[in-house]
Amino acid sequence: MKVPFNYLPFEFKNHNKIILEWKSLIKSNDYTLGKYVNSVEKKFSKFFGSKYVIAVNSGTDALILSLKALGVKSGDEVITAANTFYATAGAIVACGAKPVLVDVNDNYQINETLIEKRITKKTKVIIPVYWGGGIPNIDKIIKIAKKYNLYVIEDSCMGIGGKFKKRHPGTFGDIGCFSFHPLKTINAIGDAGMLCTNSKKLYEWIKKYRNHGMRDRDNIDFWGVNMRMQPLQCVVVLEGLKKINKVIRTRNVNANYLDLNLRKLNKFIKIPERNKKNLETFALYMVRVKRRDKLIKYLNKHNIEAKIHYPKPLCLQKPYIKYNDKYISKNAIQQSKELITLPVHQYLSKDQMKFMIDKISKFYI
Ligand SMILES: *Cc1c(COP(=O)(O)O)cnc(C)c1O
Repeated sequence: MKVPFNYLPFEFKNHNKIILEWKSLIKSNDYTLGKYVNSVEKKFSKFFGSKYVIAVNSGTDALILSLKALGVKSGDEVITAANTFYATAGAIVACGAKPVLVDVNDNYQINETLIEKRITKKTKVIIPVYWGGGIPNIDKIIKIAKKYNLYVIEDSCMGIGGKFKKRHPGTFGDIGCFSFHPLKTINAIGDAGMLCTNSKKLYEWIKKYRNHGMRDRDNIDFWGVNMRMQPLQCVVVLEGLKKINKVIRTRNVNANYLDLNLRKLNKFIKIPERNKKNLETFALYMVRVKRRDKLIKYLNKHNIEAKIHYPKPLCLQKPYIKYNDKYISKNAIQQSKELITLPVHQYLSKDQMKFMIDKISKFYI
């Protein structure tokens, strides 16, 4: 039996609807912004429960645009999680600022109790990350930001379809960023991203900046860039939106099943606490295990595509080491040695999950 990590062949097996929509898009000649982009923005605005949505090329673009909109520039510092994906820090650096990393808690989310110590006069923004589709303590982070007069950009790239206190990730801070990369809960056929905000001012600036700073065809208000989402991807992402609630439900059912069975191996496996009030997306199902590197080899040998996100945390990556930061993200480093990501996607069968649990049990006992 094979337990694949990559579910995209199943996701796009039945692509007739997409092709049909693409055909009418091609006929429409509406290739730049236009009705497909408007429609995706309107539908996601409703789904997120956020006033304004802007469709862009990637989650990375969404982060860069957000930072730019809040005026982040050279000399500024931006606080984020020590275990996040390269893009969060890369976007900060792309705006000329410096990423300042904060260690994570046992749920792999930024540890909000450690944020205050990292704030300096140069700090401008905090970027909490919904790492793996889990939920950071966003309430407390917003409180800290208010106290120090800082902005909050939520990196909810893995959080599409989740819930914190009945609200969608990305709708708590000043701006929320999303990605439709193949690893996330809604997938484009390639790259796409989005951001949301309730601020009209930010919305209007970002919308313009995304499109060369254009006021109209013949006038620009300021220098901008081209970060517009492709209508071809709007079609794909809208199909994904129709399924998202079901996808998240199935991923949660699968994660519960894995939790329940892996708890029997609690001498070897540590499952994070699950807060039933939140809805995690399980973009990644991650647990901490003993003898991680041996386990992953064993599972891969048995055709179970387990992965590691990531074996080398951001705080130990070459460009971060260069900052010579004396702060040590102990948990993030420890977790990078213990975490394993197991397939949890919506196309797994019960038999595949049983097989996976069986092999893990056999490895330990
Ligand atoms: C995927 C991801 C990004 C980047 O999104 P892209 O669409 O790949 O540019 C940024 N931050 C986090 C936490 C992500 O998971």
